[in-house]
Amino acid sequence: MGSIYNPESALAIFAHPDDIEFLCAGTLARWAKAGSRIAYLLCTSGDVGIADPQISKAEAIDIRESETRAAAKIAGVNQVIFLREPDGMLEATMELRKKIIREIRKFKPEVIICGDPTRVLGGESYINHPDHRAAATVAIDAAFPAAGQPNLFEELQAEGITAHKPRKVYVTTWDNADVFINIEETIEIKIEALRAHKSQIDWDPDPRIREWAAETAKGKEMEYAEGYRVITLVSDEDWENSVGDPLKLDAYKKEKKRKESEAEKAN
Ligand SMILES: [Zn+2]
Repeated sequence: MGSIYNPESALAIFAHPDDIEFLCAGTLARWAKAGSRIAYLLCTSGDVGIADPQISKAEAIDIRESETRAAAKIAGVNQVIFLREPDGMLEATMELRKKIIREIRKFKPEVIICGDPTRVLGGESYINHPDHRAAATVAIDAAFPAAGQPNLFEELQAEGITAHKPRKVYVTTWDNADVFINIEETIEIKIEALRAHKSQIDWDPDPRIREWAAETAKGKEMEYAEGYRVITLVSDEDWENSVGDPLKLDAYKKEKKRKESEAEKAN
């Protein structure tokens, strides 16, 4: 699978308002340009991310949510969902998993993009934020198998929210990527989107973002890239015949088996 794959839809699930811009906004902007339906799902609204005692948490939420909407808009994304879990205290609980399953089942994305739950330490000077790890863990656990199991959280069906099996999970990663998305045409958008987080960015993100994206693209036939470890949960054939609906998928598989055994009998 090359970098020309454009999913019909993608849901990005992250902890904080600016995580998407740092990690995958180049890819999402590219998909949005190609016509994909995209939504951001943020677990927290970054309410402790403004280190100013004059600004209350409620004010910080307002500021950061409006910065996030502006950043999304720059990337061509109009839907942003905030779960408003407490920033800095995020935990991968069953309650949070259910909230995320609800949004996956409502939005029915072909692709889920999330962080890497196994990333704890980086180099000599980085410890991954525990909120990032919690959001990544809960996103992965919601994506598979739970979101696609009709008999799990079946009470959601009463609200018309039915089970959904996403096709692929794109895990953002720095050093064990197997899929590289060319973001040459959207790197400006990524940088502009990052600049929308005015309360966070008092430095020029341009050189650093280009440096990171060039590092990721090294050795590939592209100038700038974002890297992912991609997990394919539903095969191309199965996706074509179910588009994420587990009941349709089940019916398709049964029918296929039936035809196969019929053909066998005829031989
Ligand atoms: Zn973050």
